[in-house]
Amino acid sequence: MAQSKQAITAIRGMKDILPDEIGDWQQIEHTLKSILTGYGYQEVRLPILEKTALFSRGIGEVTDIIEKEMYTFQDRNAESLSLRPEGTAQCVRAMLEHGLIHNQSQKIWYSGPMFRYERPQKGRYRQFYQAGIESYGIKGPDIEAEQLLIIARFFKALGLEHNIKLQLNTLGCFSARMTYQKALVQYFNTRVDDLDEDSRRRLISNPLRILDSKNPQMQSLLAGAPNIVAYLSSESLMHFERLQKILLAADLEFEIEPRLVRGLDYYTETVFEWVTNALGAQGTVCAGGRYDGLVEQLGGKATPAVGCAIGIERTVALLALKKEASLVKSNLGSLAEVYCLFLNSEARLKALPLIEKVRDALPHIKLIADLAEGSVKSQFKRADKSGAKWAVIFGEDELKNNTLSLKNLREDKPQVMINQKDWVDFLVKNL
Ligand code: ATP
Ligand code: MG
Repeated sequence: MAQSKQAITAIRGMKDILPDEIGDWQQIEHTLKSILTGYGYQEVRLPILEKTALFSRGIGEVTDIIEKEMYTFQDRNAESLSLRPEGTAQCVRAMLEHGLIHNQSQKIWYSGPMFRYERPQKGRYRQFYQAGIESYGIKGPDIEAEQLLIIARFFKALGLEHNIKLQLNTLGCFSARMTYQKALVQYFNTRVDDLDEDSRRRLISNPLRILDSKNPQMQSLLAGAPNIVAYLSSESLMHFERLQKILLAADLEFEIEPRLVRGLDYYTETVFEWVTNALGAQGTVCAGGRYDGLVEQLGGKATPAVGCAIGIERTVALLALKKEASLVKSNLGSLAEVYCLFLNSEARLKALPLIEKVRDALPHIKLIADLAEGSVKSQFKRADKSGAKWAVIFGEDELKNNTLSLKNLREDKPQVMINQKDWVDFLVKNL
């Protein structure tokens, strides 16, 4: 007797995206691509693996990502490589490597899978997808405003504008951030007993990140911490004020959140997050900001830069919630229009070339040929389930007489028989 073999499953935290869900993914990708193209952003496609040093140098040694979330391994040549945990450092690497950063401005976007070894839960995976936008070479806050307007347009196009809100903060320039950091350390040092374990560790490694803690027991302590505003230079204040002015004039609502710091080291000046209450603890759907120091840190000349990344799974989850609420099926965009049924295999043989001609003439319609063996009755059932408006029947008489029969699956009307040569015309008039 053959030994039974256990099925092999996917890796924990790495999700299969199945046909039921793919309509939402495609809608998101399509929407974003058309908006970004409209704003003159250009796509890049970059590798999934990079040298580990790119991320440790780019993101910061004492960030969560580098300390505990990276998938790092040695390749066959004993070189340390990592699956990319985010796209910004990598995009800078690529732009520098190809001479596309200095003495010019650039507007770039990318999308694809990212990898972080986190505890998997709803909205948090070990392989997840981000779409990111990055701009290089533009100093003033107008570019932050442009990116925020792009993201707002994107959420609006998906009908999600009422499900999310924009939070803004500024971290000031690097030296202001350092002075502020000292003030924070002083404050938290007098209250070490109230800090949780993570925060005590951060007090030494990355004090700013304490402000990011979601621990409810620390919230009152955090509320009493010094506010960054008092430490900002007049240039930083002007930068931040001009950004707000543009957003107000463009009717883009936002909140100032003085404790918003972001988890990565490379941010300066503006930082922002789009957040929702609908997804529990995984509430940040898009995040980003200015990172003027990163290009230099990765070996280039100091270059102003701004970017952000949208979490696609969380956007899909918001879309799904919205559709649930309005009782619209999530695969509505992928419904078929025409479904062809065949009496037997000979009928299929004769009809398939004809169907190809219809595809030539009407490339945009969704036409499904039922190629599974089965009774006409079971094919009708599948036709109905496909959402198609028309079932097209190829039976014995039809093929003998060069005709075909059409049955409207959505209205109670008698079946009609037409000449095969009139099929395209019929569909043009009746779809
Ligand atoms: P969080 O605070 O939720 O861990 P983050 O600050 O680590 O987020 P970023 O590095 O700024 O996130 O990534 C940008 C966006 O990518 C996040 O706002 C989120 O939507 C998404 N994202 C980040 N990590 C994951 C993950 N493990 N699974 C799914 N989406 C994620
Ligand atoms: Mg994280």
